[in-house]
Amino acid sequence: MNDIENLRIHFYGVQGSGSICPSFQDRVAYHQVSDSELLKQVFTDLQSRVGADGRLHVSIEELLGGPLTQKTLLAYRDRFSIPPTRTYGGWTTCIRIETADGFDIVLDCGSGFRVCAKDIVEKWGEQDDSFTPEGHRQLFIFGSHSHYDHTEGFDQAAVCFDPRNHIYVYANRQYLQALDQILGIFSHQVDFRLKGVQTPLSYELMPAQFHSCEIRDFRIDPPVGEADRLAGQYHDLEQRVQIGDTTLQPFEVFHPSPCLGYRIERGGKVFVFCTDHERRRGTDSQHPLQVASLEAEERLCHHSLGADVLYRDGQFLRVEYDGDLGIGSDHGVSRQDWGHSCIEDVLEMAVQCQVKHTYIGHHDPNRNWSERNWIDETLIRKSEQSGLIFELAQAETVFDL
Ligand SMILES: [Zn+2]
Ligand SMILES: [Zn+2]
Repeated sequence: MNDIENLRIHFYGVQGSGSICPSFQDRVAYHQVSDSELLKQVFTDLQSRVGADGRLHVSIEELLGGPLTQKTLLAYRDRFSIPPTRTYGGWTTCIRIETADGFDIVLDCGSGFRVCAKDIVEKWGEQDDSFTPEGHRQLFIFGSHSHYDHTEGFDQAAVCFDPRNHIYVYANRQYLQALDQILGIFSHQVDFRLKGVQTPLSYELMPAQFHSCEIRDFRIDPPVGEADRLAGQYHDLEQRVQIGDTTLQPFEVFHPSPCLGYRIERGGKVFVFCTDHERRRGTDSQHPLQVASLEAEERLCHHSLGADVLYRDGQFLRVEYDGDLGIGSDHGVSRQDWGHSCIEDVLEMAVQCQVKHTYIGHHDPNRNWSERNWIDETLIRKSEQSGLIFELAQAETVFDL
């Protein structure tokens, strides 16, 4: 049965732009950190056994409690507490929220959605169909924007292949369109020029029940007449969406494609999801993009005020954004209008809004492990100074709120 008190949040994908697998150099750097930590503790142990004559009087068998085998070596290692070396990267954006009242909510369907859906199917499979708790075989997906790294995992997800499953997608029109024009899951139509081009799959091969709800600003774009083939329903941007006892307030952020963030609340706890948002650093304060970016930043601050946890795009360092330094290369290029924020601006905003815990995600795929680890260590030091927590988001992080 459900052991969740309020909300359980899982990060399946926090990688920006494209999935990455650690390179050979990344693995070497990672092992250098973990091996040196282990060796430090082993030599501290040996040092404690040195006699008055300055020599070590212990045999390997005594040290290991038996002959040198993999089993005794691992048992010896387990005597030490070695802090896990941090890992970054992996799949593109996908976060899952499990609620105490039995609902599964997913934020974005990047490549992490494949793994996420596997876990959801496993959970639903364990539940007896005759029992049908609230939320059983119903998945609520909230999309941020149409870019490929936020939709690419959809057709690989096990939840899409069981006719008993109901999948509700709430998102802006561009997100619904990105899924539908390739797969036809809402309209049951795919342009013959697109069919099979990007993926062999389409709605005929995906038997789950798909439902769409377009989130749009009714003040600018009021729905006219009945819902169309793409959007089964409409939802006003200004209004919260209610899933059981959990509310999700969408709001617009700033990105080259229209993009939504969400403030998620349940039981007095607040989680804010804001991927792909640029706090623009232009020099002309009157430039329409600069004005739009700062308005979006203000909205984000408003919704993040006093939040327990914020997940936010921080793809660049300021020197990289300005083009003074490259990422993974010596060649710097200006990142203005690429749609992503600087880590320094995320920290400033989190302090201003007194967000208790900030996970910085949407990592640049060209940033290597050592650089990520260096940034993360810097964030840990900043956390100690500010009394708030900042860290780089890691896939497979799970926490309760
Ligand atoms: Zn993205
Ligand atoms: Zn994007």
